[in-house]
Amino acid sequence: MRSRTLVHCLSVLAASVSLSSFAAPNPATDTTAAHNKAVLQQLPFADKQAFSDAERGFVAKLPDGKVTNDDGSVSWDMSDYAFLDKEDAPDTVNPSLWRQARLNAIHGLFKVTDGLYQIRGMDLANMTIIEGETGLIIIDPLLSPATAKAGLELYYQNRPKKPVVAVLYTHNHVDHWGGVKGVVNEEDVKAGKVKVYAPAGFMEHAVSENVIAGNAMSRRATYQFGAMLPPGERGHVDTGLGKALSKGGETTLIAPTDTVPDNATLTIDGLEVQFQMAHGTEAESEMMMYFPKFKVLDTGEVTSQHMHNVYTIRGAAVRDASAWSHYIDVALERFGDQTDILIGQHHWPVWNQEETKRFLAVQRDMYKYIHDQSVRMINKGYLPGDIAEELKLPESLDQQWYARGYYGTLSHNAKAIYQRYMGWYDANPANLNPLPPEQNAAKFVEYMGGADAVIEQARNDYDKGEYRWVATVMNQVVFADPSNQAARELGADALEQLGYQAEAGTWRGAYLMGAMELREGPKPRNVGSLSPDVMQALETGMFFDLMAVRLDAEKAADKHLVINWQLTDTNENYRLNLEHSTLTYRADEQDDAAQASVAMTRSTLDSILLRQTTFPDAVKAGKIKVTGDPKAFFGLLQMIEVPEANFGIVEPRK
Ligand SMILES: [Zn+2]
Repeated sequence: MRSRTLVHCLSVLAASVSLSSFAAPNPATDTTAAHNKAVLQQLPFADKQAFSDAERGFVAKLPDGKVTNDDGSVSWDMSDYAFLDKEDAPDTVNPSLWRQARLNAIHGLFKVTDGLYQIRGMDLANMTIIEGETGLIIIDPLLSPATAKAGLELYYQNRPKKPVVAVLYTHNHVDHWGGVKGVVNEEDVKAGKVKVYAPAGFMEHAVSENVIAGNAMSRRATYQFGAMLPPGERGHVDTGLGKALSKGGETTLIAPTDTVPDNATLTIDGLEVQFQMAHGTEAESEMMMYFPKFKVLDTGEVTSQHMHNVYTIRGAAVRDASAWSHYIDVALERFGDQTDILIGQHHWPVWNQEETKRFLAVQRDMYKYIHDQSVRMINKGYLPGDIAEELKLPESLDQQWYARGYYGTLSHNAKAIYQRYMGWYDANPANLNPLPPEQNAAKFVEYMGGADAVIEQARNDYDKGEYRWVATVMNQVVFADPSNQAARELGADALEQLGYQAEAGTWRGAYLMGAMELREGPKPRNVGSLSPDVMQALETGMFFDLMAVRLDAEKAADKHLVINWQLTDTNENYRLNLEHSTLTYRADEQDDAAQASVAMTRSTLDSILLRQTTFPDAVKAGKIKVTGDPKAFFGLLQMIEVPEANFGIVEPRK
C-alpha cells in the first residue's frame, strides 16, 4: 500500500508549500476599511511595550533573511515580509493582526541574559540556546534542519563555538523537534556525546499525532496556515503564532535518550533545571522549565503572547482549557517569585518579575474564563453559535495584547468548550438527522426561488457589508451546484473581505484560502516524500491501524481473511483478521489456519511506506516471503485505498 499521508501535517506542509498568486485579490471594501479603522479605537495601540520587549537583546540577523535547503530551495525568507515595515496597517489587514505580524517579523539572534540566547523569527517556533559548563544546551530545534542549522550558525558567528551537548524537546509538536539533525547528528547521540531530553510520552505522541486522520488534517492545515497564499497585504501576513512554516527539507527526529521524570530537578551540563510537567494542555506531552542560575522560566508553549487554540481549526481533539489554566497557575505559584524573565518557545520574552506574574495570571485566567463562562452558558441552554457570539472577555483581559486571539479565537475556543462537554449535537431534534449538505443545499436554494434569485439578494447584502451571511448563503448555492460561477465568485468575494477583517492569522488564512479555491479550485498539494525518521519511529501496530482506516469496505464485503504477518528483524508477529468489512489485528499471535503468512523485515516495510518500493516489487525481489495463498495477501492490499489529498472544502467532494 502507498501511504502518502503517514506524516505529520506540518511536515507535509513544510515539504509541499509552493507560492502561487491570486487570480484577483480585491481591495478592501468601504465596510472592511471602516471595520479595520474602528479596531484602532478599540485596542491600546499607543502601548508599544511589546516592540521593545521583542527587540531587546538583539545581537544579529541573517543579512538577507534567507535560509536555503540542501537542494538550494528556499526554506525561509523574511524579505518576503518586508511589506510589514510600514507601521500603519493597510485597509486589507486588521490592525491588531498587523501589529502581531510586525512583532513576529522581528527576527534573528537575541541575548536573553548572560549565557542564554534565542533564535526567533527564523521558523514558526523559537530555538533557545543555553551556554552550559562544557557546551551548548538547545531547547527545541525548530521545524526544519535548514533553519535550525542556520540559527546555530548565526549563534556561532557571534559567540564561542562550543559543541552541542544536550537537546531538550519541550513537547511533541513537530515545529519543536523536526530540525534536530540540523544541530546534532545521531552518531554523537549514540556515542553519548549528546543527551536528548523529553517529557514522558514524547515519542508516542510526536509520531502518532497525525497519522490516523493525517490526510484530512494536513489538507485542512493548508487553510489554517494560509499555506498557498503569497505573502502580501492581500495575502499572507502571519500565522499569529509565528511568521510562517519553514519549507522543504526533511523532518528529522532523534529519539530522547532521557525521559524527564515528572517535575524533576536535573543538572544538565552543570546547569540546574527545575522541570514542571503540563501534559494534556497545549500538547499531550509537554513540560516547562525553570533555570535558577538565570532566574528564567521557559514555559515552552503553555503560555504565549496571544490566545492559543483550545481547538485548532485544522482539526484535532479539543484540549482541556481547565487543565491548561491550572498548570499556568502551578508555574506562577512555583516560580513566580523567583522569575525575572519569562521566555517561551514562540514569541518574545516578558522582561521583569512584576510583568511576568501579571502575564501568567492573565494567561491562566483567560483559559479558565473561556472554560467557565462557556459552561455557564451551556447550562443555561445556549447553543454553540450563541456562545461564540455573546461571550466576551472582561475588559481586564480583553485589553491585554497577549490575550488577543491571533491563533485561537474566543469564538472557536468557546465552541470547543461546548464540543468537549456536549459533542456535536445541540439536543434539538430538528438537527438530529437533517438532510446531508448537498441535498440540504439543493432544497434550500429551490425554496428560496432558485440560484439566480438567491445571488441577486446576496449581492445586495454584499453591498451592505453582510459578508458572514453572504458567505453562508453562497456556500449553499455552491453546494447545490458547484459549477455556478457567479455564486463561487460572490462567495469568494465575501470570504476575502472576512479574511481582511479577521484578527486571527488562522481565520485570515482560512478565509483567503477558501476565496482562492472558490476562484481557482484546489491547488495540487505535493505531498512529497515521507520522512524516514518519523516513519521508522512508527509502531508497527499503527501501520495496521492506518490500513484499517483505509479499507474499502465495499471491496471487502463478504470476505473473510486471516493473515499472519511476521517482521523478522524486530521479531514482531501479528494476526490480521478481515471480517464484516472490518480489519482487526492481534499482536504476538499467529494462526495455523491463516490463508497466508507473510514475512519481511521492518526495514522493508519502511521502504514501502516511504514509497521506495511496493509490495509486489518487494515480493519479486525476494524481500517478502509469502506462504499459503498469495491471492489472500494481494487481495487485502487491493482493498486499501489512498485518500484524495485535495478533497473539496468550499465545494462538495468529487
Ligand atoms: Zn509550537
